[in-house]
Amino acid sequence: MKVNDIMLDLERKHPGENEYLQAVREVLESIEEVYNQHPEFEKAKIVERIVEPDRIITFRVTWVDDNGEIQTNLGYRIQFNSAIGPYKGGIRFHKAVNPSMLKFLGFEQTFKNALTTLPMGGAKGGSDFDPVGKSDAEIMRFCQAFMLELWQNIGPDTDVPAGDVGVGGREIGYMYGMYKKLAREYNTGVLTGKGLTWGGSLIRPEATGFGALYFVEHMLHRAGKELKGATIAISGFGNVAWGAAKKATELGAKVIAISGPDGVVLNPNGMNDEKIDYMLELRASNRNIVAPFAEKFTDATFVPGKKAWSVKCDIALPCAFQNELTGADAEELLANGTWCVAEVSNMGCTPEAIAAFQNAKILFAPGKAVNAGGVATSGLEMTQNAMHLSWSAAEVDEKLHYIMQSIHEACVKAGQEGDRINYVKGANIAGFLKVAQAMLEQGIV
Ligand code: GLU
Repeated sequence: MKVNDIMLDLERKHPGENEYLQAVREVLESIEEVYNQHPEFEKAKIVERIVEPDRIITFRVTWVDDNGEIQTNLGYRIQFNSAIGPYKGGIRFHKAVNPSMLKFLGFEQTFKNALTTLPMGGAKGGSDFDPVGKSDAEIMRFCQAFMLELWQNIGPDTDVPAGDVGVGGREIGYMYGMYKKLAREYNTGVLTGKGLTWGGSLIRPEATGFGALYFVEHMLHRAGKELKGATIAISGFGNVAWGAAKKATELGAKVIAISGPDGVVLNPNGMNDEKIDYMLELRASNRNIVAPFAEKFTDATFVPGKKAWSVKCDIALPCAFQNELTGADAEELLANGTWCVAEVSNMGCTPEAIAAFQNAKILFAPGKAVNAGGVATSGLEMTQNAMHLSWSAAEVDEKLHYIMQSIHEACVKAGQEGDRINYVKGANIAGFLKVAQAMLEQGIV
């Protein structure tokens, strides 16, 4: 395999799809050496096949807003790879959603899901619907209209969507209600991230953030460092940031910053229960601003227009959006003495930022390993649904712990570089080998 030749071909087929091309390049560069030691992969053209989604479903979503105006959005489901299990991955509602974004996310999901140890293929879906400022009734009508098109393409053994940016428990509820009406079956396993009274799993809302902190704990432990007493800057204030802030605080770290599109909140005294709960309220307000946090808590200060990466911290946790931490942000963090960065958002760092962290030899781990606890707990939700029972919070949390530990071990095993661990390489190689082996054994399909 020659990465540049494959990338040239892909750029020709998918011009301008920058996020997708970025995600593919990162994986191919990491796996090149290992791939070339497997002539059977080369012969079966595994790379050429694995970089393309199995299928892309595109549809129009038309709905009526509160003013009686007719609105039309685009809807997508990208079923990326089903070598190791049914398609699985979230749905994103964001005004910038387009095929490139969802293809990058579906591609990443394929390897992430392989790392979880559970049998799940990779998928992603979403819409360019912008939830900011929408009423609850508008959100419901949109979710119903979206499901009206999607429902025939999904199922507990076919494709199992969940939440992502802009899609949480409320949206999953509205989508499930419509699915159930259309399918005339109580198929709880068709969606994950459900409410607790109708098939949801305990710990699923917390899982992405909790899992990320369990991963960081292992990474720090291996490097002889401690989470206790460390200062942490988090970007975002949504579900993922909330879970990360909660677990980081529980484990004795101090979350000294959270941020939004409007700026950063400096929180020098760290979080407490009231502050952590308020993060959920902020998100539910649908206004997409973090400033009110500093109005409510007098020991916090809001700095408009600044990112979380301008804050001096030991550990940086991007928890918002792809490419939210750039090369310039990385330089600022490094100059301020940051010694660990773990992506909790998918592809949260640009390639320049990752290179800067790796050159500086600080601890760095990629999203597909760090944030896999979310989809892993979705996998545990599917298991509970299939068994028609529900596990206690302690049971789910213990399984999540075990999964994050396994992912860390897989990264260490495949990412050894001298006495250092290259977690990007480790995660990509471990995830790739599992999917590639399954594809090989299943023949040319
Ligand atoms: N959207 C989450 C992710 O990026 C969760 C997906 C899921 O639970 O299926 O992994």
